[in-house]
Amino acid sequence: MKDKPTVICVVNQKGGTAKTTTVENLGIGLAREGKKVLLVDTDPQGSLTISLGYPRPDDLETTLFDLLNKTINEDAIQPAEGILHQQEGIDLIPANISLAGLEVALVNTMNRERILKQFLEPVKKDYDYVLLDCMPSLGMLTVNALAAADTTLIPVQANYLSAKGLEQLLQTINKVKRQINPKLRIEGILLTMVDNRTNYAKEISSLIRDTYGGHIKVFNTEIPRSVRAAEISSEGKSIFLHDPKGKVAEAYQKLTKEVQANAEKRRKHQLEQLR
Ligand code: ADP
Ligand code: MG
Repeated sequence: MKDKPTVICVVNQKGGTAKTTTVENLGIGLAREGKKVLLVDTDPQGSLTISLGYPRPDDLETTLFDLLNKTINEDAIQPAEGILHQQEGIDLIPANISLAGLEVALVNTMNRERILKQFLEPVKKDYDYVLLDCMPSLGMLTVNALAAADTTLIPVQANYLSAKGLEQLLQTINKVKRQINPKLRIEGILLTMVDNRTNYAKEISSLIRDTYGGHIKVFNTEIPRSVRAAEISSEGKSIFLHDPKGKVAEAYQKLTKEVQANAEKRRKHQLEQLR
């Protein structure tokens, strides 16, 4: 029997912390390990959609907006409706600017925090992992993503200011956990765009590990800064194709292994508890 899918919400209300880059490369990393992976773009800016090779999201016929709108209106959704199959072996539910309108409409919707969860419930069964790419805010779409998730992965740029913003994010995650999604976990904090040549980056890295490492996992893997990573947002392919021998590809592969090892550990733990 297939294991239950894991829904990972990649979240940080700050822009430019490598959420989208991480969803793309972790997702494709998992697919390269033979996992069935669905990526969901929940950002009206559609950056994930664009990075995966759909440069004009506004021209797409069906996006997350349409699917969530149907969910709200209780219209029938066909199996696999709106799901794109990307060349590197992952599936994608794309987004475009229309999703920004939904953010407003949700305010007057019944069960408004759980629309994405409700939509994903039948869809996720076909996958091992579902990764949600969040927009840079803690608004209704992000709350929907947190409500639909089993676990959260928090990319943090290795600088002092983004380390401060973490507090507010952790409060929101805990609030969603208390009020909407009691099973929500934190998978870990991922340090991104780390410039290992500077002492400053090393200090921030140790600061975050010292401050949070006691109660929240900080991934051993750190994602180094490299222009090769910045190039892929317009290339329509992952770092594994763009620069397979580079340090960023190596780091995302290590992260993929860490995420899988965590899942494995949890599965063993659950089995032991069942005995
Ligand atoms: P977010 O989704 O959190 O806003 P992105 O993934 O879009 O962040 O990344 C922000 C910017 O930083 C993008 O231009 C991206 O190409 C670039 N970037 C991401 N990861 C790296 C990295 N490891 N090294 C250098 N630039 C990166
Ligand atoms: Mg993004």
